[in-house]
Amino acid sequence: MNLVMALEMAAECFADRIAVTSDGKSMTYGELLTAARTVAADIRASGCKYVGLLDINGLGVPVALFGAAYAGVPYVPINYRLTKPELEALLERIAPAYLVTDDTYINPLVVPAGIQVIKRDEFLIKARNTALTPVDAAPGEPRDIAIQLFTSGTTGQPKAAVLRHENLMSYILGTVEFGGAAEEDAALISVPPYHIAGISAVLSSTYACRRMVQLPNFDAATWLQLCRDEKVSNAFVVPTMLSRVIDHLEASGESANVPSLRAVAYGGGKMPLSVIEKAMAQMPGVDFTNAYGLTETSSTICLLDPEDHRVGFASQDPAIRKRLSSVGKPLGTIEIEIRDEDGKPLGAEEAGDIYVRGGQVAGEYLGLGSMLDANGWFPTRDRGYLDSYGYLYLDGRADDVIVRGGENISPGEIEDVLLTHPAVSDVAVVAVPDEQWGEAVGAAVVLKENAQASVSDLQNWVKDRLRSSRVPAALIFKDSLPYNEMGKVLRRVIKLEFQKTS
Ligand code: ATP
Repeated sequence: MNLVMALEMAAECFADRIAVTSDGKSMTYGELLTAARTVAADIRASGCKYVGLLDINGLGVPVALFGAAYAGVPYVPINYRLTKPELEALLERIAPAYLVTDDTYINPLVVPAGIQVIKRDEFLIKARNTALTPVDAAPGEPRDIAIQLFTSGTTGQPKAAVLRHENLMSYILGTVEFGGAAEEDAALISVPPYHIAGISAVLSSTYACRRMVQLPNFDAATWLQLCRDEKVSNAFVVPTMLSRVIDHLEASGESANVPSLRAVAYGGGKMPLSVIEKAMAQMPGVDFTNAYGLTETSSTICLLDPEDHRVGFASQDPAIRKRLSSVGKPLGTIEIEIRDEDGKPLGAEEAGDIYVRGGQVAGEYLGLGSMLDANGWFPTRDRGYLDSYGYLYLDGRADDVIVRGGENISPGEIEDVLLTHPAVSDVAVVAVPDEQWGEAVGAAVVLKENAQASVSDLQNWVKDRLRSSRVPAALIFKDSLPYNEMGKVLRRVIKLEFQKTS
């Protein structure tokens, strides 16, 4: 099993269907297959061990991904938003590599030896070069590494997660109906190509034989316009993207007005309840799905489906409405177990560490090996609980837990309470050093426009609702919180803010 299987099947059944569109240029599935096989010949001739991609979304993305598989080497998309030293260090780690890139990203760098730079335009010319003999078949075995992906580094240095052909194909075959897209369907890909969400969007769209519309740089107005112009039917967004779309609609007074848009999936970080509620109100015809997954699990492992969204949204019963803040139920091919700190499985409604098992779970890092236990379970390092109906609720990440005098406190429960205060628009809770307790609760709060609340108002708000250990000992007001491009709040940056103010 090799991931080129998705492309070969699409090209065989729908050769003339547009596979990918970007900036007014397109390629059919037949052309994409030939392009991938053609660049594979060039990659093989280069003798490189990896295909790197240091570039934004565009036609080159699926060509590089499938081209690497035909060449039989791992594909390594790189985050172009990293700093110069970080990028140079990552390139050093993957040399010798065939690097598809553009002047904007490569020119500022000192390129390490062994990196063969191929500019984006040159790469697309090579893809059409009839003098190159296309590679016949992809050599990769199911256990070969298909993709090496650096995690976001939200909790530390990026780790190189290894995804094998069998992991990615297990996800695709288990979740996507081959050729399930209609001729007129189009998927808008606005998540960056270096994130698992971007990769899975390319692979799922290919297997569904859906046209991909690649958006190089996200902004809300362009996203909406592209949805209308390209008659987009499906989109995947991270929470901050949806929140910006909603803000844009509210500020401009425009209505969403995208009749073609049927389905929006979101994930990658926590979706604020207020944002999804507004999105459902603004886009009543759209099916929303919350997708929870990790790089190490080849993307989505749990889904909150459109029906659950509708039922939760329409219900006045707090127990049912609460479901909107869950990440839904595990995929049919996935098992989830919640364990206590000694590794003992916990029952429904009991919070602990989330473990996952299934064919798509790679759970492996380059140089560190496999993190799966003897029975194939992977520790996600997320915390949460399953309710008695099997819905999974996330409760933050193990690394973010605040240990106050030996008591473990999840930032999520305090954030949820502060977010119910009428003056609060955003909040992040982190551990701050404390002489008496070792660590204490620190909260960085953004107030709504023209709203007012004092430190003691907010402390009392928490005190009235949670145990006293949860009351923020330190609270600062901010104009906005730092997020990465995947919508994850950067807690380490907020911790530094507390150090500066103490
Ligand atoms: P690093 O491991 O380097 O810190 P990272 O874990 O942020 O980086 P990713 O694999 O991109 O790298 O992120 C996976 C994490 O994102 C999950 O463990 C979870 O905490 C969060 N996440 C993903 N999807 C959702 C979702 N739908 N709702 C809430 N959180 C989510």
